[in-house]
Amino acid sequence: MTTPPFDSDLAELRAAAQDHAARHQVITDCAWPDGARVAVNVTVDFDAMLLRRLLNEPPMQLAKGEFGGRVGIWRLLELFDGHGVKGTIYTPGRIAELYPDAVRAAARGGHEVADHMWEHRVPAEPELEADHLRRAIAALERLTGQRPVGTRSWHSAPLLRQEGFIYNSRKVPDDRPHYIREGKDTQGLLNLPMHYAIDDAMFFSFAWMNTENAAQRMADPDRVFEMWWDAFRQQYDTGGYLNLCLHPFVSGRSMRIDMLDRLFTRMKTLPGVWFPTSETVARHCIATCPPHPPVAR
Ligand SMILES: [Zn+2]
Repeated sequence: MTTPPFDSDLAELRAAAQDHAARHQVITDCAWPDGARVAVNVTVDFDAMLLRRLLNEPPMQLAKGEFGGRVGIWRLLELFDGHGVKGTIYTPGRIAELYPDAVRAAARGGHEVADHMWEHRVPAEPELEADHLRRAIAALERLTGQRPVGTRSWHSAPLLRQEGFIYNSRKVPDDRPHYIREGKDTQGLLNLPMHYAIDDAMFFSFAWMNTENAAQRMADPDRVFEMWWDAFRQQYDTGGYLNLCLHPFVSGRSMRIDMLDRLFTRMKTLPGVWFPTSETVARHCIATCPPHPPVAR
């Protein structure tokens, strides 16, 4: 049984908070290029049916995922192109093999194709982990002609750096980009934070993660529109960063495409709204607000 943190534990809590602060270097003043007032980084997790397979979900869920690869990704790319949005498509290696035309089209359209693990998992064995990452890199590079420099994954920072990655987009400890140093790693890696409050799957995915019918989240698109607009406005007013996380099998459905269309249209009524890829954001952050020198541990 765990005991609540009374006085005796306070020093331990403080030490943990200080250690956490020392491991995170938040970029507080992003100062985006060309007078941009906010960076809206539209990111797509091209999971299709892969995660559903890993979770042993029933055929209906696999079919739902498959819709993302066959239909949803194309609708999203068309939407982005119509708005001048440059998206980042986080793509598992196996999905690149299954939907090569969509991955090629994304790259041709000037979108970034980034890593999302070989098969949506990171093996615990270091050699196998490296093998998975290299396979995913090769699968993406074969289709796009470009070696990925970004990832949304649980791969270790030293391995990612070694393979030429400059950022990850996974963790949520702040809403502004930040450098994270984990464990014994003194160098760290840039993290472009996402958040579940700005993730379509949290609102629109029926039977998400094997949930019971009573636990379903099928939100009204208008309600999500207002929530995401508020999140955007707050970041716009503070010169910040918004990482919108979409899944083709979720947001590729027509009423959500329509909602995103209205959202991008409304965002663009304000001056200085920038829709860069994650790579563009990362390169800007690293060039203008580089990480502090490595600290000895
Ligand atoms: Zn995913």
